[in-house]
Amino acid sequence: MSKEFIYRELLNILEEENIKVEEPMKKHISFRVGGPADFLVKPKTEEELSKVIKFAKKGNIPYLIIGNGSNLLVKDGGIRGIVIELSDNFNNYEIEGKVMKAQSGALLAILGRNALKNSLTGLEFAAGIPGTLGGALAMNAGAYGGEMKNVVKSVRLMNTDGDIFELSNEDMKFEYRKSILSKEDYIVLSAVMELQEGNCDEIKKIMEDYANRRTTKQPLNFPSAGSTFKRPEGYFAAKLIDDCGLRGLTLRGAQVSDKHCGFVINMGEANAKDILDLMFIVKSTVNAKFDIMLEEEVKILGED
Ligand code: FAD
Repeated sequence: MSKEFIYRELLNILEEENIKVEEPMKKHISFRVGGPADFLVKPKTEEELSKVIKFAKKGNIPYLIIGNGSNLLVKDGGIRGIVIELSDNFNNYEIEGKVMKAQSGALLAILGRNALKNSLTGLEFAAGIPGTLGGALAMNAGAYGGEMKNVVKSVRLMNTDGDIFELSNEDMKFEYRKSILSKEDYIVLSAVMELQEGNCDEIKKIMEDYANRRTTKQPLNFPSAGSTFKRPEGYFAAKLIDDCGLRGLTLRGAQVSDKHCGFVINMGEANAKDILDLMFIVKSTVNAKFDIMLEEEVKILGED
């Protein structure tokens, strides 16, 4: 199927301004690296999304959903097929009593801020995570002892046939940085979260404390995808890396942050290969010293 044909078909589904061709992925991920996606589209409605999915499936065209791109590393050769970005258009939310309903593209920071405004407690941990609700549910994002699993009641999803269905918290099979989406190609459309009534000043204080911990401990002034590796059971990835003497190790444009060894950062001019090569060195060194194989938390996508 030619790119011209795919473009014409996408034009039948989406507005022209919401279809990008040969779109540099570095513009869409927090690591600020990565080659172009053949197509990057931004459906405005669930109907448009379903049509794109059905078209891709029928034409055997690979597709991929992204939220805010804050847990992704796209390789330098870019991504073949269609990247579907939900962060701009799927961002409505509403609060009724203790219940917050939000679309998958809503940013956790905005949801957290609005929980605070309504004196609702439960999302304090999430307010500083730079992702969308969809990405957070896919990964069961968490911080400071909280995780999405603790607040989500139910999730509306779309399958690869474009059909919509709902799963309960239990059916989402949340685990540490995992959910049912780690195995199934479902798309999160929206979710219902149940929060608790709290005290506005106390919620604010907790959020400020978490924000303060992030600014003092994390290299937030450099592009990254947060923690590069998952926490191995019984250990902390950052401590293992530090104990190997890798703090500040620099490879071309990539560095093991000297502020927080759990973060590989882009010092400004890195490409994806620099970051991947450095990650490989970190993994091999930790494995050689401690016999522990670190597992990537960041999702690696695309072609070399
Ligand atoms: P993306 O990075 O766009 O995507 C991540 C995965 O989710 C991909 O597999 C994608 O296909 C999938 N996905 C996205 N949207 C959907 C959807 N609607 N339906 C189905 N699948 C979808 N993470 C933490 O858990 N805790 C932290 O404290 C934390 N701190 C961070 C700090 C920094 C500075 C940075 C850069 C990142 C941090 N992260 C943290 C990582 C990241 O922000 C989270 O994993 C976040 O939940 C990812 O959301 P996203 O919208 O950016 O998802």
